[in-house]
Amino acid sequence: AGKWVKAMEMVKDFEEKCATPLSRLRQVSDAMIVEMQAGLASEGGSKLKMLISYVDSLPTGKEKGLFYALDLGGTNFRVLRLVLGGKGRGIINQQFVEVSIPTSLMTGSSSDELFDFIVAKLAKFVAQEGPDFKPSPCRQRELGFTFSFPVVQTSIASGTLLKWTKGFSINETVGRDVVEELTKAMERHGLDMRVSAMVNDAVGTLAGGRYANNDVVAAVILGTGSNAAYVERADAILKWHGPLPRSGEMVSCSSLIPISEHSIASTSFLWKNRVANGISLKVINMEWGNFKSAHLPLSEYDLELDAESLNPGDQIFEKVMSGMYLGEIVRRVLSWMAKEAAFFGDTVPPKLKVPFILGTPAISAMHQDTSPDLKVVASHIKDIFEITNTSLKIRRVIVQICSIVATRGARLSAAGILSILRNMGCDTITEGEERRTAIAMDGGLYEHYTEYRKCLVNCLNELLGKEVFESVVLELSNDGSGIGAAILAASHSKYI
Ligand code: ADP
Ligand code: MG
Repeated sequence: AGKWVKAMEMVKDFEEKCATPLSRLRQVSDAMIVEMQAGLASEGGSKLKMLISYVDSLPTGKEKGLFYALDLGGTNFRVLRLVLGGKGRGIINQQFVEVSIPTSLMTGSSSDELFDFIVAKLAKFVAQEGPDFKPSPCRQRELGFTFSFPVVQTSIASGTLLKWTKGFSINETVGRDVVEELTKAMERHGLDMRVSAMVNDAVGTLAGGRYANNDVVAAVILGTGSNAAYVERADAILKWHGPLPRSGEMVSCSSLIPISEHSIASTSFLWKNRVANGISLKVINMEWGNFKSAHLPLSEYDLELDAESLNPGDQIFEKVMSGMYLGEIVRRVLSWMAKEAAFFGDTVPPKLKVPFILGTPAISAMHQDTSPDLKVVASHIKDIFEITNTSLKIRRVIVQICSIVATRGARLSAAGILSILRNMGCDTITEGEERRTAIAMDGGLYEHYTEYRKCLVNCLNELLGKEVFESVVLELSNDGSGIGAAILAASHSKYI
């Protein structure tokens, strides 16, 4: 009985350390805004890199033809092809395949081995082009490359890898141009294809989201990792030394010129005014996964996870909210409870000690188990940890731990979104104002983990208040990161 009391104390203590009352979330958001501004002010000025993307013009809707995308996110990569109809006809055909990346290629291998593997799959996919996907005669196939790791770009189709995240660690790739790495692998495979645009997933999702809905001004990724991108005024980016328009001058901010005339009316009031005032805009890749603040609610389990990770001290925000880590946090809590409070009996079940054995899909299945005797929890615990005969009492506690971890993650995501909205001045609304602010959302965590998504949405409502909340639309943009890259390949085609 003493052991059960001890176990309950551990859960309670963990819950307190993960608490995210609104006051705390507002502090997190304040801190994030400070970091955003520091990152915009100078290179290396903040944990938030606030990278200026080279996507200056978003698609117009006139792009036409067959385009490819390669989306390398972390867990899987996807290759897709789109046929764009031109003149506002949108996407008229699309196909994709998804391939999971062998863990041996994520850490043990050489850069060439990783890119050879990817290109082999891409080449196979290209070879299967059917009659609905006719390439234009005498044209090289063009590809948009979504590469979701921190990269400094020097043009729309080149960029140097700053560091790996999300379980990748291939030292020789760091400091290299990943477009060149990809292109060389294509040459090795005799694949005649040109990389026309490289973006990260957040920027790709923003472009894809914008193609579909003109109100989109930001994108958030909640998948293996987490990141966000948004549209920023060039004059607020102190580190930007490119051209700034003179006041009153109309600039080529095609990123904010609506796709169809019809949608002018729906363009957010605020941004429309800024365009009218001749302020040019830039798409900023925040790399928000690397955000860190003393206000983040962290437990000893999070600190331990970080210390034992491939990138200790980095990506702390990502490590408390994204798909790669939520299951692992739960595993660590359970493992300590087994050790310190004999939660699963006198010995610690060996599987409980295996890092990353508990995935976030399992957390989501257990958290959302509605059966009265928590059958789903029982079967997952049995299959994953080889622990049989869990009592209902124990299963309830497991659900509670999943809920604590997911709730904290979802609410911190909401605080991140609040920071973007505040920075754009979209967190207030004047009476009678008709404004829509849309945020394109992509990633397996947001898409599949219903409780997480609901919790995020509810929390955003609490943070913004009903009236402002109703002007904000979170739009699931399924595969938006890949689709966006293909569309950007089209708008940056060498044939236009
Ligand atoms: P990536 O981020 O690698 O581009 P995805 O956007 O597909 O890939 O996201 C994959 C991540 O989404 C997985 O790492 C996993 O954590 C999470 N995920 C996938 N399915 C579920 C699910 N059913 N419940 C919760 N999380 C899920
Ligand atoms: Mg992705």
